[in-house]
Amino acid sequence: MAERDLDARVRSRAFEFLREQTALHGEVLPFATLTRGFQFEGQRVPLLGPQGIFKPAVLPEMPLSIMTKAVVEGEARPYDDNLGADGFLRYRYRGTDPQHRDNVGLRLAMQRGVPLVYLFGVTPGRYMPVWPVFIVRDHPEQLAFSVAVDSPYMPTLSVPRPDLASLEARRAYVTVLTQRRVHQQSFRERVLEAYRQQCAICRLRHEELLEAAHILPDGHPRGEPIVPNGLALCKLHHAAFDRNILGITPALQVEVRLDILREADGPMLRHGLQGFQGVQIDTPRAAALKPRAEFLAERYELFRRAS
Ligand SMILES: [Zn+2]
Repeated sequence: MAERDLDARVRSRAFEFLREQTALHGEVLPFATLTRGFQFEGQRVPLLGPQGIFKPAVLPEMPLSIMTKAVVEGEARPYDDNLGADGFLRYRYRGTDPQHRDNVGLRLAMQRGVPLVYLFGVTPGRYMPVWPVFIVRDHPEQLAFSVAVDSPYMPTLSVPRPDLASLEARRAYVTVLTQRRVHQQSFRERVLEAYRQQCAICRLRHEELLEAAHILPDGHPRGEPIVPNGLALCKLHHAAFDRNILGITPALQVEVRLDILREADGPMLRHGLQGFQGVQIDTPRAAALKPRAEFLAERYELFRRAS
């Protein structure tokens, strides 16, 4: 009983720590913050270890977190954390032995319905923490578990059990939304890093004001969340690009829509939009990360039709 109580207190302290850190630094946290972790009764508790499944020393038996590494740009499909047939995330066993202590620990967490943290690697050294997550099924034939995300606002530890079907439905819904959020954050982080945290058009360097724009839009058959289909833009230029107020030619020059160029207004219009007519945009140094010419050409066509 004492052990279970300790386990629950460490977990709730971990969630509190993540709440504080994400409120301070945003949804994505650096490796250093996660390995430094938090203090618990005079002991330092890291949230992340060298392996995917991590149990800090303070916990008696069950892991605290599971982690997946960042996708590497240009390697196959951008994401491999696809949902299983049950609508939940697949998480691979450690190794191939179902009885490895890490796998046994996760199975125990499943049996007891204990909440964990899922650390999604978005770029090397940066992770998006998601909690609470639950191990909900074991698939020994696939050497994997099903992981469900639940809402952090739902009391999970001490409520009378909701009926199973509605619990599953809610978790499946939260899991899908979370996966989408992780992908968006991952795309943003990879694009911003490739563009050295500055707007490709105006070179603004305030990360808080920067976003990752899709060249071919999300939903387009080839609108993939890969850096060659992205541009780091400040909020103004992102919105202007999305709404075809300005376009980018296949030769990487800014083209401001004609009616906007002819408009007369204050300094924001003059400097923020008209002033960039014909300017060469800034692109990543690595050839593999530069905007792909065919994406730019197709998008520029859309801009021309809109103007
Ligand atoms: Zn800008």
